[in-house]
Amino acid sequence: MQVFNSLTRRSEELTPIEGNEIRLYTCGPTVYNFAHIGNFRAYTFEDILRRVIQFNGMKIRQVMNLTDVDDKTIRGANAAGVKLTDYTKTYKDAFFADLKRLNIQPAEMYPAATDHIPEMIDLVSKLVEKGIAYKSDDGSVYFNVRKFPGYGKLAHIDFDHQQTGARCAADEYDKENVGDFALWKAWEESDGPVGWDSPWGRGRPGWHIECSAMSMKYLGETFDMHTGGIDNLFPHHENEIAQAEAATGKPFVKTWMHCAHLRVNGEKMSKSAGNFFTLRDLLEKGYTGREIRYVLINAHYRQGLNFAFSALDDARKSLARIDACVEKATEGEAPDWAKKHLDDFTAAVNDDLNIPKAFASLFELVRETNAHGGGSVLGVFRRMDEVLGVIFFGKAEKAEIPAEIQTLLDQRAEARKAKNWAESDRLRDAIAAAGWQVKDSREGQTVSKV
Ligand code: AMP
Ligand code: ZN
Repeated sequence: MQVFNSLTRRSEELTPIEGNEIRLYTCGPTVYNFAHIGNFRAYTFEDILRRVIQFNGMKIRQVMNLTDVDDKTIRGANAAGVKLTDYTKTYKDAFFADLKRLNIQPAEMYPAATDHIPEMIDLVSKLVEKGIAYKSDDGSVYFNVRKFPGYGKLAHIDFDHQQTGARCAADEYDKENVGDFALWKAWEESDGPVGWDSPWGRGRPGWHIECSAMSMKYLGETFDMHTGGIDNLFPHHENEIAQAEAATGKPFVKTWMHCAHLRVNGEKMSKSAGNFFTLRDLLEKGYTGREIRYVLINAHYRQGLNFAFSALDDARKSLARIDACVEKATEGEAPDWAKKHLDDFTAAVNDDLNIPKAFASLFELVRETNAHGGGSVLGVFRRMDEVLGVIFFGKAEKAEIPAEIQTLLDQRAEARKAKNWAESDRLRDAIAAAGWQVKDSREGQTVSKV
């Protein structure tokens, strides 16, 4: 399995540092609002990565953080006049529901920043003891970038360390504003009730320190992979490397991967630009999680992807074609022509996650299966779907069943078990009234949208 490493800017064979397990850290959401589908481009890319790792027989240990304290969450909570934890809980819950909708495999762990303040204070203390970080007049602590010679190695910028001396208090800034960055921010009026005691007084962590502290806690001081959207590369990931390596003296991460942005009319989709759609927006328009997933993964992760509704409509047609073919497919030893498509598929995903090419192999399989009027290719579809996660195999899966319909179905299954046919019929009518048709077979109930 080859992947492109942003650190070395080369394609490299991915092999675990230790045993058969890849330890992966993925920067998670800042839970101050509903995630938009640009964010989900990053999370579906990471989902594809973890699936391809497992497809290759390796194990995965993925940690994704939840940023529940930073400039944006504090601003949001204080503006709404609620406790920070109450404010962020809404968006944490929404995030996990959205991941399910997109069939994103859960990470092994979702540590929240606010649960790791002591670990962050420890790491900052270490940097202060080593003379790499210093306390400023206002009680904040800054990382002195001139004290870390490797600074800039990820962003591939040779900063003139003699000239920087400026400080940047904001969590997010660009390359023009490189300077010492905040590890710990002294309490300010605008923080309201948010703050923790530290050796430098009351305050809160800067954004970057949480990822160094939590990744090393759960994955070790040196681990295999770290990913995020390309906007995370600088300064966030550059700073993570500086914080970790300056503290431990060891290499932090072997392989860095970054996905390109989801754009709208050529511009990055973002909260601040206002050009975003949340997953909820699209579901409300009648698109399904599966269709949205299809669009997000069906572009190479290092290539920009322009969002368009026509792509969602095309996804619906393509998925219908796959569904119709899978319905005809049968179990059994796959014929050689199908194995060839699986080989091509495997080569594509192992070539730096080339999902568009992998889909091309899948559609070759569809075309040839149709030409044969069917075939024992179900196993091949299943194997491909370990990576893609968009194929429905059972008829009941054909449409995503809303929760309220599922509840009625469960009640109906109970009624039938109790041989309460009148209740079963009543529930069938209730399901029909909501626009779904239920059929009974030996395997149980199946529903389809009418
Ligand atoms: P944030 O919540 O802003 O920290 O972003 C969470 C993740 O989404 C990060 O990995 C970002 O790099 C990524 N991200 C944000 N906007 C986009 C976008 N338009 N396209 C792809 N990834 C994005
Ligand atoms: Zn991070």
